Amino acid sequence: MYWDGSCANGATWFSYWWLPGFGLVLLLLALVVIGLLVRQLRRPRVVDATCPKCSGAVRSVYFRCPHCGETLKNNCPACSRVVESGWVCCPHCTAALAK
Ligand SMILES: [Zn+2]
Ligand SMILES: [Zn+2]
Repeated sequence: MYWDGSCANGATWFSYWWLPGFGLVLLLLALVVIGLLVRQLRRPRVVDATCPKCSGAVRSVYFRCPHCGETLKNNCPACSRVVESGWVCCPHCTAALAK
C-alpha cells in the first residue's frame, strides 16, 4: 500500500488503524472464553477432602462438615490460629492440642 497516504481510492494505511484494537478485542474475548472453560473443568474438583466421620464430600477450607456437623478444624487454644482436627500439636506455636 501507499504508506504516505497518497492512494486515491481511500484504502490507505489509515483505513486500518482499528485493526490492532480489533485484534485486542478478539484476544480479550478468547481469554474470557478460555477462562470460562477452565472454570468449567475445575468445577468437579472443588471437593478436595472427605469428612472423617461420615465420609461426605467437604472442601478443605470448611470448618465443619455440612452433612453431619463434625468439626473439621479447630482453633489452637494457645495462639487461636486454625488447626485441623487430628493434629497433636499446633504447627504455628508448637502447643500441644487436645485430641
Ligand atoms: Zn460429616
Ligand atoms: Zn498455636
